[in-house]
Amino acid sequence: MPSTIKDVPGFAPHGGALELRLAGTEKKELEQSAVDLPQIEATSRRVLSDLELLAVGAVSPNRGFMTEKDYKSVIEEMRLANGLPWSLPITLPVTDEEAGRIEAGKKAAITYEGRTIAIIDVEDVYKFDANREAELTYRTTDDAHPGVAYLKSLGGTYVGGEVTVLANVFAHEFSQYRLTPMQLREKIAERGWKTVVAFQTRNPIHRAHEYLTKCALEIVDGLVIHPLVGGTKGDDIPAETRMKCYEVLMDNYYPQDRVMLSVFPAAMRYGGPREAIWHALLRKNYGVTHFIVGRDHAGVGDYYGTYDAQLIFEEFDPDELGIWPIKFEHSFFCKVCGNMASAKTCPHDRENHVHLSGTQVRQMLTEGTEPPPEFSRPEVARILIEDARSRA
Ligand SMILES: [Zn+2]
Repeated sequence: MPSTIKDVPGFAPHGGALELRLAGTEKKELEQSAVDLPQIEATSRRVLSDLELLAVGAVSPNRGFMTEKDYKSVIEEMRLANGLPWSLPITLPVTDEEAGRIEAGKKAAITYEGRTIAIIDVEDVYKFDANREAELTYRTTDDAHPGVAYLKSLGGTYVGGEVTVLANVFAHEFSQYRLTPMQLREKIAERGWKTVVAFQTRNPIHRAHEYLTKCALEIVDGLVIHPLVGGTKGDDIPAETRMKCYEVLMDNYYPQDRVMLSVFPAAMRYGGPREAIWHALLRKNYGVTHFIVGRDHAGVGDYYGTYDAQLIFEEFDPDELGIWPIKFEHSFFCKVCGNMASAKTCPHDRENHVHLSGTQVRQMLTEGTEPPPEFSRPEVARILIEDARSRA
């Protein structure tokens, strides 16, 4: 049975309890009963990833895909209908044909590759305006934005209701690192950490980000490197390659007793500021107390201001969020200082800083050239060169 767990190690989850939506012993029975239900095919990575987040309680207090009431409240006010802060919708899109078969008050089966992976207790079926959602959540209606393109590809109807998840289709990926919020909370408790910072990333960790994580670690008990693996856009470095980079850093540059590596199964939305809040709230459910917000967090293209994702935290009472953002500026190696620094800590001109653009780095890696060790650890550079070669 899905369960509500209030008694968890560490600080309270968002809304007070972990809402685990994974079926237990009743799974077989539900699978059999699903045969007669109308079907909704989960066609996007986002929906599949959201089901995993619901199954493990990462999006607590949500128990399913948002009803129109919560959806509207979230996109308009950045709050659930009950007033709790929540910055991005969790929605189940359906085709017109699927919508025609579904009825409020009844169940439907969510399927993937021909099998039922979840049951939804349909509360409502409603129309949405893709442009309105895009404008409010992504601050743009430009089709070139991957989140907007996704919204515009949908049929215009969502289904809301609580879900019971029967199968996590991604369970086998990075399984040793796939800690649920409950498992991560238990590990944190075992280590006796009272304050823990999480680092969200969808990129390999170079020196600049290693520096941020270590600065944060100087002031808290533990660090969780929590890379997102639930779906990124095609030109991002694949999760398999990134995991190798994180592992080599864990082995060589991070203290094992102060740092954990675990994966974050959400799909990227590229929602910039709103996604920074969403990333933080989900990490709160994973049991961490602090969250690193760098420059252009969850951004893409130039849709967001460099520090918009930090400023948005000021729109909320810190106690309501219940997780503390640690905000960082752009950092770099300064040859005069002889260390990693930022504009906050280094008085020297830019010409003294080791700076490489994303394009320069990609070009170096494709050519098999290691970026300078002040930019990237050689072990990481070698993994990325191999990846660039295999993809070329
Ligand atoms: Zn300097």
